[in-house]
Amino acid sequence: MKQRLLFLGPPGAGKGTQAERLASRHDLLHLSTGDLLRAEVRAGTPLGQEAEAVMARGGLVSDALVLAIVRERLLQHHGGWLLDGFPRNLEQAEALDQLLAELEQGIEAAVLLELDEGLLVQRMLGRGRADDDEAVIRNRLEVYHSLTAPLVAHYATRGLLCRVDAAGEIEAITQRIEAALLD
Ligand code: AMP
Repeated sequence: MKQRLLFLGPPGAGKGTQAERLASRHDLLHLSTGDLLRAEVRAGTPLGQEAEAVMARGGLVSDALVLAIVRERLLQHHGGWLLDGFPRNLEQAEALDQLLAELEQGIEAAVLLELDEGLLVQRMLGRGRADDDEAVIRNRLEVYHSLTAPLVAHYATRGLLCRVDAAGEIEAITQRIEAALLD
């Protein structure tokens, strides 16, 4: 299976759940910028303090901050990886390309999890995270459509995009992703 992956898709599509399953089944580093940022907020670090208010309203934390997190983790890691929630805009995608050129690595696939918008909102309201109230969810969807969705074309033109239907049972979706990622 492909070993250097990123996950794209709107909030609520199940990126975190699927990324975690795939990473543990195929021994990949699961790098979730959202999880790492939430850990910084919980620990009350300066980085967490900077990110907290932006996350609470569903905006994007600064590129420099997120990049520093990703850079540190990828430099330390040898082996396959799965990026979950990064890149979130074109600037981050370009910075990632540069970082990977430095590391002499390339992205092997960008998995796009696709789900109907009604189901997205239902899933988010069901999981009860602090940034999952309705107004914040609406803002996160808007941020996704305006800033993150353009990345679909960025990876499609490079022949890296794998579209996966994210509706249905968790295990069935994992198997769909695995099938899309066969070498
Ligand atoms: P997630 O867990 O991926 O839904 O991320 C939760 C929140 O963390 C987002 O709404 C953003 O505020 C922030 N965040 C996560 N990843 C990024 C990123 N790559 N760039 C900027 N902000 C991010």
